[in-house]
Amino acid sequence: MTERIGFIGLGIMGKPMSRHLLDAGYPLTVLDIVKSAMDELVTAGAQVGTSPQNVAEQSDVIITMLPDSPQVEEVVFGKNSLRAGLRAGSLVIDMSTIMPSVARRVTEAVRAQGADALDAPVSGGEVGAKNATLTIMVGGARAAFERAKPIFEKMGKNITLVGEAGAGQVTKAANQIIVGVTIAAVSEALLLAAKAGVDPAKVREALMGGFAASRILELHGNRMIQRTFAPGFKIKLHRKDMNIILNTARELGVALPMSANVAELMNGLIANGSGDLDHSAFVTILEKLAHLEIGPAK
Ligand code: NAD
Repeated sequence: MTERIGFIGLGIMGKPMSRHLLDAGYPLTVLDIVKSAMDELVTAGAQVGTSPQNVAEQSDVIITMLPDSPQVEEVVFGKNSLRAGLRAGSLVIDMSTIMPSVARRVTEAVRAQGADALDAPVSGGEVGAKNATLTIMVGGARAAFERAKPIFEKMGKNITLVGEAGAGQVTKAANQIIVGVTIAAVSEALLLAAKAGVDPAKVREALMGGFAASRILELHGNRMIQRTFAPGFKIKLHRKDMNIILNTARELGVALPMSANVAELMNGLIANGSGDLDHSAFVTILEKLAHLEIGPAK
C-alpha cells in the first residue's frame, strides 16, 4: 500500500524534497505558515492541510522540515498539534536540524501514542535537495528506518541509520563542527599566506595535493579567493547550528573550545551585517583583524 505523506515546512529545502515525493507518486498533503510556499506543490497535485493535526489525520507518514527546535516543538506539541492527529502506526520524520534532546523528546512523545518517530537531518544544501542527492543521517528504531527508506531514497543518496533517537541530530552536529572549524582553519591559512606576500590561490592549489586537502579548502577556499560570498549556506544558519552544538555540549558537560570560538566570530559577523552571506565569508572577520583582504590574486 502506498504511504500517504504529510509534509510540513516548504522552504528552501522542504519544497524540492516534497516535490520529489509527489513526482514519485506518493499522495501528499502539505502545510506551511506562508501560504504562497504551497502554491507550486498544490499546482502539481498536493492537497493543502489546515493544521499540523489535520495533516497528521490525513497521513501515514508525516515529515517536518522546519527552521529550528522551537518550530518543531510548536508543530508537534502546540495548538492543533501533529500529536493530536496521530494514529497508532503513524510515522513522524523530522528532517530539520534541531537539538538532539528535542528530537529525543519528540520520539518519546510519539511512541507514547503507539506511533514512531525518526530524526533524519540532512546535509547537501539546496542543490542536494533539488537533485535528490542529500546525505541523510538517521536516529531511531531499525523497523521505522526500514519503513522510511524508500521515502528517503526519493530525496537522498547516502542514507545511514546511525543509532537510536537523537543519533541523527548528534551526527549532524558533528558534521557542522567539522565544517565550521575547517572553514576557520582555511581562513587563517589563506590569510597568513596573503600577509606573507604569498599568493593564496597558489597556496590552495599546492595544498590540494597533500594531507591538508579537503572539500572545504577546495570549495570554500576558492570562494574566499574569488570573493563569491552569495549563499550557499548562510552564516546565520550555521550560527544556529553552532548554538545547537554548544547547547548540547553544555547539557553533556563537554568543552568544545574550537566550536565556541567559531560561534563567537559568527556572532561578530552577524552583528556586522554579514549573516546572509555564505559561511565562506567567515574569512572577512579575520581579514578585519589583520587589516588585509586575501584575494583575488592580482
Ligand atoms: P527555510 O526557512 O527556507 O524553510 C522553513 C519553512 O518552514 C518556511 O517555509 C517557513 O514558512 C516554514 N515554517 C516555519 N514555521 C512553521 C510552522 N510553525 N508551521 C509550518 N511551517 C512553518 O529553511 P530551510 O533552508 O528549508 O531549512 C530547513 C531546515 O533544514 C533547517 O533546520 C536547516 O538548518 C536545515 N538545513 C538547511 C540547509 C540549507 O542549505 N538551506 C542544508 C541542510 C539543512
